Amino acid sequence: MYRDSGSITHAMMTATAAARTSTGRVRSSNEDAFGYRPERGIYVVCDGMGGAAGGEVASRMAVDTVLQRMTAEEDGDVEPMSERERLHEAIAEANRAVLERAEGDAGLYGMGTTLVALLLGTDAGARPALIAHAGDSRCYLMRAGKLSRITQDHSLVDEQMRLGAMTAEEAERSPFRSVITRAIGTQKSVTEDAIEMEVEKGDVFLLCTDGLTREVDEAGIARILGAGPDVERAAQSLLDAANEAGGRDNVTCLVVGIRQR
Ligand code: CA
Repeated sequence: MYRDSGSITHAMMTATAAARTSTGRVRSSNEDAFGYRPERGIYVVCDGMGGAAGGEVASRMAVDTVLQRMTAEEDGDVEPMSERERLHEAIAEANRAVLERAEGDAGLYGMGTTLVALLLGTDAGARPALIAHAGDSRCYLMRAGKLSRITQDHSLVDEQMRLGAMTAEEAERSPFRSVITRAIGTQKSVTEDAIEMEVEKGDVFLLCTDGLTREVDEAGIARILGAGPDVERAAQSLLDAANEAGGRDNVTCLVVGIRQR
């Protein structure tokens, strides 16, 4: 198990983060990856896939590329980009990096990864959050005791459900439930979804892989996130709950709590 934590204070609010990842109780390797730079307000979770070492390589590369691009000094000669454009460019760069590596190494051919990223604005006053994702790793928001899912899975079964062609029960039993329809590193380009929202004090964001959401239902996630403001405890409790429920996949939970200074 890997532990990490960090916090950063902005003009009006403080974001405190904690993350946990686990191989789970069945798999022999962990293809999930996470990373964050609190001073930049960027948090990323990826769930890799692909034979041999591919999944591990893809998820790590995607996390590192996005963090690197988001923390790099902006080139003074080019037109300044909006935060949304910067994140879009960082995700596009991660896509190129993973695809190039996969095409250049027969052992890594076909690898790819999901990605979910949270970017917290660093301006004083209003703190808009930007959430971007491709694949079935999710972002949840716990606000005033209520859990909402911010992202919609890019998966075959989720899309069928949204079209009304499949019920939740059918999706749960479907042999295609692991098939994702968007990923980083599997096509020449990727179109991520991006959602912008205001942040309020007391908000708790969760970025997680499907190793959590397949094992712990939303009521269970809400109970754990609602139990108190300690992000370290929340991340650990979510991981423990997934492993206690079977731990059939790698599990990663990154929890970001927003407090007033
Ligand atoms: Ca997974």
